[in-house]
Amino acid sequence: MKIVVLDGYTENPGDLSWGALEALGELTVYDRTPADKVVERIGDAEVVYTNKTPLNAHIIKNCPTIKFIGVLATGYNIIDMAATKAAGIVVSNIPSYGTDAVAQYAIALLLELCHHVGAHSDSVLAGEWAKHEDWCYWKYPLVELAGKTFGVIGFGRIGRRTAQIASAFGMEVLAYDEYSDQMEKTDFCRYVSMNELLGQADVISLHCPLTPSTEKLVNQSTISKMKAGVKIINTSRGALIDEQDLCNALDSGKISGAAVDVISEEPIRADNPLLHTKNIIITPHIAWAPKESRQRLMGIAVDNLKAFVDEKPINVVNQ
Ligand code: NAD
Repeated sequence: MKIVVLDGYTENPGDLSWGALEALGELTVYDRTPADKVVERIGDAEVVYTNKTPLNAHIIKNCPTIKFIGVLATGYNIIDMAATKAAGIVVSNIPSYGTDAVAQYAIALLLELCHHVGAHSDSVLAGEWAKHEDWCYWKYPLVELAGKTFGVIGFGRIGRRTAQIASAFGMEVLAYDEYSDQMEKTDFCRYVSMNELLGQADVISLHCPLTPSTEKLVNQSTISKMKAGVKIINTSRGALIDEQDLCNALDSGKISGAAVDVISEEPIRADNPLLHTKNIIITPHIAWAPKESRQRLMGIAVDNLKAFVDEKPINVVNQ
């Protein structure tokens, strides 16, 4: 069985082993694959792994030996699902591998907005403290979270874990989820309507998936319903936010700070307006990437192929 990994570098830049996949077949791993090389590199492989390399209908048609596609991620919008189904290809994803890592990162972004640890350390290392006339100084307003309200939009695995941590800081937690009426009650949060959450939260953290109904859910109209000085955290998907509207709200001060790990187009374009906006922290989509969660992802990717070979496929997303 020939196995091709089209873009293995971000999952395994060298600190993990592909050994468990290698044990299942003849494995070729590419760090990255440009669009015009995908068909050639897949060749006559039966198993293809992709993280973010798109597999469209043209590629599926021109690679008739493919039987199984493993997505090295949760999101699979890069694959033409109808084409895989028509071709009888099984597609499996990794539904959950980084809940704790992403929740921890959402809180890291929040703490960075509250304390600007990185900027203060940079200032000291650049010599500002050594020259200062006072024994301490701060360059941004410092914010205490206890007693403030944390609003979670999308109360699934990551949203729930993030909310638990926020609650441990003494924050009141409000949650909005499209399916909250079917969810179990928790002792650390209150389910509310979207409008109630927008109007009451001091911090809003986005944890819902990107779908046609959630695209640009943070926009001029929803921002107008938020509290003055609200903070926004986004570790979910960049397109949940209308980035120009966010820039305007950051410039006016309506939103006092935003910290985002995801952008509408990745890598970020040099002309993205967020790059030239005040009070924003942007990181390059790394919430998922601690070694522990990449290791877990690798294990599930291998289990997905083993299950397919045993004719009992798991985590199938194109049935
Ligand atoms: P999940 O499926 O467990 O939770 C998503 C929740 O959103 C569900 O409870 C669902 O009911 C809710 N939801 C769906 N549509 C909604 C809507 N219109 N309004 C409000 N809520 C809605 O998913 P998860 O594992 O918690 O992951 C959440 C998101 O995190 C993923 O969709 C992904 O985009 C993102 N993610 C980012 C990284 C990263 O590295 N930054 C890593 C993993 C996941």
